[in-house]
Amino acid sequence: MKDIRDLMEDTQQMQNERTKLLSALLDSDLIQKYLKENNIGKEYVEKHIGRFLDLQKTLEKCAVCKGDLCKGYRYELVLEDNRLKSVYKACPYLQKKQEKQEAEKAARPYLARYEMAPLGKQFQDAGLEDVLMAAEKDDAYRTSIPPIVRFLKEPKDKGLYLYGKIGVGKTYLCAVITNELAKKNRRIVFLHMPSYASDLKNAFDSPELYEYLIEKPRKADVLVLDDIGAESISAWYRDEVLLPLIDRRMQEKKLTLFTSNLSIRELEEKMAITRNEIDEISAQRVCDRIRVLAEEIQIKGKNRRLED
Ligand code: ADP
Ligand code: MG
Repeated sequence: MKDIRDLMEDTQQMQNERTKLLSALLDSDLIQKYLKENNIGKEYVEKHIGRFLDLQKTLEKCAVCKGDLCKGYRYELVLEDNRLKSVYKACPYLQKKQEKQEAEKAARPYLARYEMAPLGKQFQDAGLEDVLMAAEKDDAYRTSIPPIVRFLKEPKDKGLYLYGKIGVGKTYLCAVITNELAKKNRRIVFLHMPSYASDLKNAFDSPELYEYLIEKPRKADVLVLDDIGAESISAWYRDEVLLPLIDRRMQEKKLTLFTSNLSIRELEEKMAITRNEIDEISAQRVCDRIRVLAEEIQIKGKNRRLED
C-alpha cells in the first residue's frame, strides 16, 4: 500500500502534468485564435483541459485538411450562458459545400423535386436543346430520338424503356424528361439500380431504412430505374423487390422510365438465371409488366462518354 508521502508525491506529479498541459494549450496559436474568435476566456481552458486537448487535436487536423480528411463534421467547444458545451459543427469546407448546394438549388428549384438522392451533376441541366444539337452531328442518334421528343411534347402514362450500348446517352435522355416533369412539380425518384440493389442489401439490419428504400420509389410520381440489369439479380431481388415495385407502378398507372444495356427480352433471359435455379416464369412475370409500363426504344449513336 502507498503511504501518505507517496500519495502526495503522485498528486504533486499530476499537478505538474496539468500545469504543463495547460501552458502548452495556452501557448498554442490554434487555441489562442479559437478562444479569440469564439469569445472564450482562458479560465475555461483551465477548467476543461481534457476537452480543450480534444479541440486542439481537431484544430491541428483541420489546419492541414483540404476538405478530404473527414466527413466534414468537427468537434468544437462553444459558450452558452457561460457554460462550455461540446458540439459537432460543419467544418468550413463542408459549410462552403452546403452553401453552394443551397445556392444551386435556389437557382434551379426543380432539382429539389428529386427525392431520395440528388440527380447526378452531369444531368442537372439536361434539356431538349442538347439532344437536338447532338442529333445534328450523329445520324444514328437522330433516328432514335423522335419518340422522346414526342413524349416531351405530350407526356403519356405509358413510360419508356430506353436500351442500347453504354454511353449513347440513355440516362441523359431520361434526365431530359424528368427535368421537364420536375419543372411541372412532379416528384421524381431516379434510381441507379446497381446502387439501389446494394443499398437494400446494406439496409437489412435497419428495418426503417429498408422500408423507406422500398416505399419511396413505389409512391413517386415519376420513377426512373436507371441501368436495370446491370445489378446482380438474385431470386429474392427479382421476386421480392422488382416484382412488387413494378407491379405497384403498373396497378397505379404511374409513369415509370427505364434505361438498360439490355433489351427487355435480354433482361428477361438474365433475370431467369439466378445462382441456384432457372426460373423463366418469374422472369417473365417481371418483364411482362415492364412491357405494359413502358414502350421499348433502342437508342443508337456514338459513345458520348469518350468525349468527356
Ligand atoms: P448511357 O446512360 O447511355 O450510358 P449517359 O446518358 O450517361 O450514357 O451519357 C454519357 C455521357 O454523355 C454523359 O456524361 C452525359 O452527360 C453525356 N451526354 C449524353 N447525351 C448528351 C447530349 N445529348 N448532350 C450533351 N451531353 C450528353
Ligand atoms: Mg446510363
